[in-house]
Amino acid sequence: MKVHEYQAKEILKKFSVPVQDGIAIKSMAEFDGAISQLQSRGINQFVVKSQIHAGGRGKGKIYNANNKDELILEGGVKFTTSVEKAKEYAQKILGNLLVTHQTGKEGKIVKTIFLAEGLDYKKELYLGILLDRAVSKNVIMVSTEGGVEIEKVAEETPEKILKEWVDPAVGLQPYQARSLAFGLGLNGTAFKNFVSFVPKLYKAYEETDASLLEINPLVITNDDQIIALDAKMNFDDNALYRHPDIVAYRDFDEEDPLEIEASKYNLNYIKLDGNVGCMVNGAGLAMATMDIIKLAGGQPANFLDVGGSANKETVANGFKIILSDPNVKAILINIFGGIVRCDRVANGVIDAVNEIGVNVPVVIRLEGTNAAEAKELLENSGLNFEVALSLKEAAEKVTSVLSADSLVQS
Ligand code: GDP
Ligand code: MG
Repeated sequence: MKVHEYQAKEILKKFSVPVQDGIAIKSMAEFDGAISQLQSRGINQFVVKSQIHAGGRGKGKIYNANNKDELILEGGVKFTTSVEKAKEYAQKILGNLLVTHQTGKEGKIVKTIFLAEGLDYKKELYLGILLDRAVSKNVIMVSTEGGVEIEKVAEETPEKILKEWVDPAVGLQPYQARSLAFGLGLNGTAFKNFVSFVPKLYKAYEETDASLLEINPLVITNDDQIIALDAKMNFDDNALYRHPDIVAYRDFDEEDPLEIEASKYNLNYIKLDGNVGCMVNGAGLAMATMDIIKLAGGQPANFLDVGGSANKETVANGFKIILSDPNVKAILINIFGGIVRCDRVANGVIDAVNEIGVNVPVVIRLEGTNAAEAKELLENSGLNFEVALSLKEAAEKVTSVLSADSLVQS
């Protein structure tokens, strides 16, 4: 799960991590109140920051939401010392479209802005924490090359990224924070502040079950404070049950509506760009099915794992989700009957099709317990299924149905 920058900063504050102060607003009606509050805290320079679940906002562009060709503002993060300017930026950003290198050209509508304290600083650093799966340890990465795209630094000058791996048995050791600080060339007060910053940040990462915590840039202010200017946090979905406070930050506007619908039914659904809808039990089989559809010349429209106990309801819900995608021109159902018997799945498919009415060709491959009975049920159902025995045959049938279908239409 992802959260917005302002939410990540709220979380980090609870762990005493120094962050750029600010107030999030969702409408211009809240602007004056928020600015007065910031002014009463002695703040007189501001950064207007677009809140979307994508990075690269600073270098992004704001377009008119009603006319995507009209450029309104260069940059989705704007610094100013004037309240009037801040208001103008907020008006231009709120409700409009932000396009960054991470959003794709369709961009994201900005529904929230973070009015933050504009800081003066002398250096931008990078700091990221994530799990290094190759060694099964969390790794803390830092670089003096903060602010710019860190991917570029990693590719072109990897020696400028310093790493410390944390042994899970003993946790982060003070010498590791010092070693990173030395590596960054820090000294004096900045060194001291950095060495106290890192363990607080690591604690926040660990205790919230984050899967990624990235501060880019982490700044050294003119008076040597170390402050998180930006904050990106992702969380391990499997651990969210332990963090209701983080779940409350979920922003449905930032997610694909079909994926939200699917999650209500406990279906693991990821929308893709193709036209063959897939309904499969088991994530591994679902991935293999997508591969073989591609091999047969088709394009999967989705990943969908209906789980180990596919029944009438899950199949019906799966159909509903798949058919809500207008790109879907054919459906491939691939179920391995292990725990669940194939004949029961077949009945589920027949019931579901009768109930909701499926208007695209459906190819079914059922293998495992009672596969023969299932085939008979499907063939005698009076419904228009194509039954396949092998995975290869299923993929070939669904792609041939597809091309025949496209021929009829053209
Ligand atoms: P991102 O582009 O989505 O990563 O958004 P950031 O929060 O990193 O902001 C983009 C850039 O805006 C930063 O790299 C800074 O250069 C600039 N910026 C953000 N906040 C401040 C601030 O308080 N003071 C100054 N001087 N620049 C800022
Ligand atoms: Mg950033």
